[in-house]
Order: sequence, then structure tokens, then C-alpha cells
Amino acid sequence: MSMITIPPFPTARKLKSLAVLTSGGDAPGMNAALRAIVRYSIANGASVHGIYRGYSGLLEGDIEPMKISSVGNIIQRGGTVLKTDRCPAFLRKSVRKEAAKILADRGIEGLVVIGGDGSFTGASLLEKETGFRTIGVPGTIDNDIAGTDDTIGFDTAVNTAVEAIDRIRDTASSHGRLFLVEVMGRNSGFIALSTGVGGGAETIVVPEAKLTSAKIQATIQRGMSRGKTSSIIVVAEGPKPGLASRIATGLTASGFDPKVCTLGHIQRGGSPSAHDRMLASALGATAAAYLIAGKSGGMIGLTKNQVTYVPYRNVIGKKKVLPKIAMSLAEILST
Ligand code: ADP
Repeated sequence: MSMITIPPFPTARKLKSLAVLTSGGDAPGMNAALRAIVRYSIANGASVHGIYRGYSGLLEGDIEPMKISSVGNIIQRGGTVLKTDRCPAFLRKSVRKEAAKILADRGIEGLVVIGGDGSFTGASLLEKETGFRTIGVPGTIDNDIAGTDDTIGFDTAVNTAVEAIDRIRDTASSHGRLFLVEVMGRNSGFIALSTGVGGGAETIVVPEAKLTSAKIQATIQRGMSRGKTSSIIVVAEGPKPGLASRIATGLTASGFDPKVCTLGHIQRGGSPSAHDRMLASALGATAAAYLIAGKSGGMIGLTKNQVTYVPYRNVIGKKKVLPKIAMSLAEILST
């Protein structure tokens, strides 16, 4: 694990009362981020409220003051103790106005949102429309957020998936089988790429680089021709999960006998890796520091291993590109 560089925290103290929520899909390390936000804030003279169930809980006033002890014994826990939710009502401007009022009525001056692109869109609109200060912390296993090289939960999810591949490989090599392993990642191939390289997959199928079934078959056959009796293909789920099964159907029609294993939600949970705990602690504390100093309207991310502030306009709706070099590395190493 390389060391994360944290620039000096801003020292101004403008805001005295913050709130924090987790929104969208849960990710291991969200609790570590919450712990850092609460403890940094209290240590710097600001109070913190925890909002339960994301924007849904905000609208229902499911909000509680947090103490130092409220976040004890959670750094090692997966998921989010604040719970999370998807809240379609927050897409409405009138509802966001109501949310700002709920926060202001409690004396809260700034909101930390731990989540993904969708959650940041909500936070950004809230800020633009009402002036209520927000700051984002990237928490998603998919690593699909622009403006940050890494997201909280990604490392843990990849480690979980690699461990699963190692187990599947035992069976694949014992029986001389072809396995298709479907991993998460929505429209992004980051989990598949890292899992494929880390798990030594023969081929990696990602949404960013469509592989034809002819190419997949050629790769398997090339391996067989040099004596490989088993193969593992890692498949990113893509926009419509079930892609591994669809590829398997094509392979079966061509005379192969593939087995499909969809890892599914086991990749989401579990105790966060040391890396995710460190990342979440650094990003969470910095987010609190920025907000207390009155800086908002962006996300605290990681660029070249350095904690950085990135304005929402460079994050929201932007596509994070899968490094081409990593794709070629995967291809070279699998031959
Ligand atoms: P993620 O934050 O992981 O990308 P979602 O896309 O599900 O997850 O978004 C989480 C929540 O953020 C949504 O349920 C909604 O409350 C809010 N949100 C998402 N998109 C928007 C939007 N365009 N405008 C306002 N709020 C949004």
C-alpha cells in the first residue's frame, strides 16, 4: 500500500455545524469516512449531525447529532451505519429547496455527501439552487467517478473478486474447465480490469473495449494450443447484468463447455481493506476541513496519490477513462 499524501488542512473556521449522509450504493470504507468526518469536525470545534438513509432520511428529518463515541468501533465494518437509499424525489427542485430548509432549521450550515456521481449531482444542484454548502466524498466500489483516481470501496471489492477467482481457478484447473466470471462495475470496467490482471485471467471483457466472440474464442483456442487446459474470462456486468451468460451461450454454440459464475453482491460488502480505510480517513477528514473552512461545491478526491479538491463541474457527468495501457498489459500478461 503506497502512502497517501494529505496537503495541510485549511485552517479557517467559518462553519460550526455540519451534517453527513451516505447515498446510492453502499461501499466498504464509508464508515471509516464517516468516522473521520465526525472526529475531525469535533476536534476542530464543529458539531456534526448524521443523516440516515441518504436524501430520503434528510427529507424525513431522520437526523441525529453525532458524538465521538457514535462512530466508535465502525472503522472495520462494511456497508454504512448511516444506511443508504435511492431517493427519486430529490430529482425535483422543490424537494431540494425543502431539504435546504430542513437543514437550516436545525442550524446545519454544510453537508458532506458520501456517494457516487448521482449523489453528487443532487448535492451540486442543492448548492446551486439554494446556496447550501455541500462537499462530496467518492464512495463506490465501481471506481467510476471522474476527478479521482480511486474511490472508497474499490480496493476492497477488487480484493474480494480476486479471492473468488483464485478459488474458481482451483476448480477450473482441476477439471480443465473454461469459466466466465461476471463482476460488478455498471458501465465501467475498472473492477473487471483490476480483477482480471490480479487474478491472471486469460481474457477480460469490459464495456470500454467491446470484444467480439470470435476474438474471445481465438484467445481460448490460442491458450489451448499451447497446452492450457483451463481458462478464466472476467466479464464486467455492463449496463445489463447477465453478459457472462450471454457470452457463454455463444461459446456453447461453438462447441465449448463454459461454466458461468456471477459474483454479484458479495463484492459489495465485507470489512474494508487497509487501503480503503486509509483512503476514507484521508478524504473524510479533508472534506470536513474544507467545509469547516467554508470551501464547498466540489469533491475531495485522490490524484496521483495526493488528496485534492475537485470542483463538481470536473466530476459530474464526466466519463472516467479506463487506462488503455492497463488493458494492453492484461492482454500481454495473459498470452
Ligand atoms: P450514486 O450516487 O452511487 O451514483 P445514484 O445514481 O443511485 O447513486 O444516486 C443516488 C441518489 O442521488 C438518487 O437516488 C437521488 O436521490 C440523487 N440523485 C441522483 N441523480 C440526481 C439528479 N440528477 N438530480 C438530483 N438528485 C439526484
